[in-house]
Amino acid sequence: MATEIIFALRNPDQRCPMATKNVELNTRNRQVAIDRYGYGPMNPNRPNPDFWAEKAKMWNTTPDEALSARCGNCAVFDQSPEMMQCIMNGLEAEDTRAVDKTELGYCEMHHFKCAASRTCNTWVAEEEEYEEEEGEEEDES
Ligand code: SF4
Repeated sequence: MATEIIFALRNPDQRCPMATKNVELNTRNRQVAIDRYGYGPMNPNRPNPDFWAEKAKMWNTTPDEALSARCGNCAVFDQSPEMMQCIMNGLEAEDTRAVDKTELGYCEMHHFKCAASRTCNTWVAEEEEYEEEEGEEEDES
């Protein structure tokens, strides 16, 4: 119900976030997440010790603990059936395989399609709340 309200408010005629339908907007928002919020690592299948050590230092914790904070368990990662349908609808038919391969979902904070196995500096624990950052609106201006 709450998800449906959010969808309706953001895009009353077509209930999907613009970034799921516009690759340029998605790419722009993703790059902002990389540049400002350390979204990564580039290849999450590799150990990336430097990446996780940096996150651990920033979060004042251990690398092992930092490794547990991923998009996939971030409070603003949306893999609801409605959102997954939005993502699938926005992909070309041959690209739909990417949804499973990269565990795609939608980041409700930075407004782009992100991978469950990555993370960023603004990872949100389930009980946390967040305030939306300015400059990452979903419009296409
Ligand atoms: S806010 Fe959460 S879902 Fe969004 S990129 Fe950061 S860790 Fe991933």
